[in-house]
This record gives sequence, structure tokens and C-alpha cells, in this order.
Amino acid sequence: MHRGCGEKLHADVQEIMLGEDQIARKVKELGERISGDYRGKEILMVGILKGAVIFLADLVRHVTVPVALDFMAVSSYGKASESSGVVQILKDLDQNIEGRHVIVVEDIVDTGLTLKYMLDNLATRKPASLKTCTLLDKPSRRKTDVVPDYNGFVIPDEFVVGYGLDYGEKYRNLRHIAVIKPEVYVKE
Ligand code: 5GP
Repeated sequence: MHRGCGEKLHADVQEIMLGEDQIARKVKELGERISGDYRGKEILMVGILKGAVIFLADLVRHVTVPVALDFMAVSSYGKASESSGVVQILKDLDQNIEGRHVIVVEDIVDTGLTLKYMLDNLATRKPASLKTCTLLDKPSRRKTDVVPDYNGFVIPDEFVVGYGLDYGEKYRNLRHIAVIKPEVYVKE
């Protein structure tokens, strides 16, 4: 971890875990890998609302094969930063995925419960292929056997915000991935 890097720190941020440039380079690399792996095919990228929106927006601009977008919203965490294990679909896809090459795009895989549920659910809809792309992976907390097909960074077991990830709906607009100060949690 490092501090600063010339990026202006939000007052609630304790430490920057991943800087803006580091994220941008990784997202470009992921987009290029996906483009190579899916050459000659069309992809449907399914973003998981709301955390994956910023990652997906940047990722898709590095994808050079034809790509359509759709979104799902699921509830996993409430305000507390612990997984409840209960996953509920709040918004389903608009499109039929049968026979299509689907990549589920998620901000972070932690216990893996959300992604496992999504994959099991989407698999029943008979896509031609089904893969996952996550920006962050916290393998130390895994409760399922889910392993993302594409992943940006493996991170330690810390609650992070920024680049789409929130705490109580805040900090999604930070340009980096950061750890917030412990006193921010007790204020809630
Ligand atoms: P899982 O079901 O894998 O435990 O959790 C997946 C979801 O939990 C993510 O999509 C994200 O919404 C939330 N989550 C897990 N870890 C973190 C974290 O460190 N920070 C934030 N902001 N959300 C997290």
C-alpha cells in the first residue's frame, strides 16, 4: 500500500490501496485479454449494479470485439460490511442470454456468495458460455469455490471503497481504491 501518489485524498480516506493509473493500466490489460480470447465472437457483458458500473464503463472501452451491455442488481450487503449470505435479484436482465457469450462483470469477489448465485442462476438460461470478470479478489474470505476467470487485483482482507465501491452509498466517485478511516464507521 502507498499514500498519495499525487492524488488528492478525501478526508475520510486512510490509505490508497490502488492508484488511478495502476487501475487504468490493469483495466486496459483485462480489456485486451478479453478481446483476444473472444476474437470472432460477440459478447454480452452483464454488470452487477451498482459497484461494477465504473469498472464496466472503463473496461468496455478496451474491448475491440462486438459487445452488448446489460445489468443486474442484487442485494448482498446492507449497510453493514459483512455478507449476509442472502442474495436477492432486485433487477433482472432485459435481454435473453440463450446461446450468447456472457461475461459477468463484478467489482469485487469476497465470500463469493454473490457471484456463485449469479452464475448458478444465469447458467440455467443456457448461455453459449459464461465467464466472470472482477476488478478485485479477496480470496482469504471465500466461502464458495468461485474463481474469477478474469481478475484485476488480489487484495488483502480489508474493506475498500472507490472506483464504484461504496460504503453506505458514499465514495463510489473516488478515482482510486482506498481504505477509509476507522472513525468513519463509528460515526454511522
Ligand atoms: P460476496 O458475495 O463475494 O461476499 O460479496 C460481493 C459483494 O460484496 C460485492 O459486489 C460488493 O458489493 C460487496 N463487497 C465485498 N467486499 C467489499 C469491500 O471491500 N468493499 C465494498 N465497498 N464492498 C464490498
